[in-house]
Amino acid sequence: MRFREPAALAWQSPVEVVCPRCGSRATVRENDVGYRLTCTRCPLAVDGGSERHVLVDGRLVVLQWKHGAWHDPAVDRYVSVFRAREGEEPVFGLPLWLRTECCGGHLLWANNEEHLGYIESYVGATLRESVGLSTVLPTWMKLAKNREDILRSLHRLRTTLAPG
Ligand SMILES: [Zn+2]
Repeated sequence: MRFREPAALAWQSPVEVVCPRCGSRATVRENDVGYRLTCTRCPLAVDGGSERHVLVDGRLVVLQWKHGAWHDPAVDRYVSVFRAREGEEPVFGLPLWLRTECCGGHLLWANNEEHLGYIESYVGATLRESVGLSTVLPTWMKLAKNREDILRSLHRLRTTLAPG
């Protein structure tokens, strides 16, 4: 089987997360004004977008959008370099629904079903293009010895997306 990089980052949205109210699967979707968090089970529906729960120099901060830039209110300064916490949705700061430990403590995560399928086809492929997105996947995902463990974990995650 030959693996081909997808043309678009379709799997960056929506993002499946853990509902902060009931613990069921909730979904974060981008809309015209920001992001909306809705739960698949309880009535929770929250709008957001002006905050980012991220790491700045290894420190967890909640940045706020202010005067056209990201501002860290804790230290009152503007921040341009930050990154998402692994396995977490940055707008609402919630754990991803599709995440699990595998291969001896590595965190395996996906934003949504399409993303899951992307990792699945990458890990399952025997021939890979050396360009594109796969260059950003961590090395442990590319090791043949981890393949079975990863595919098994992905399969288990996929079953948690079943309705109901
Ligand atoms: Zn809920």
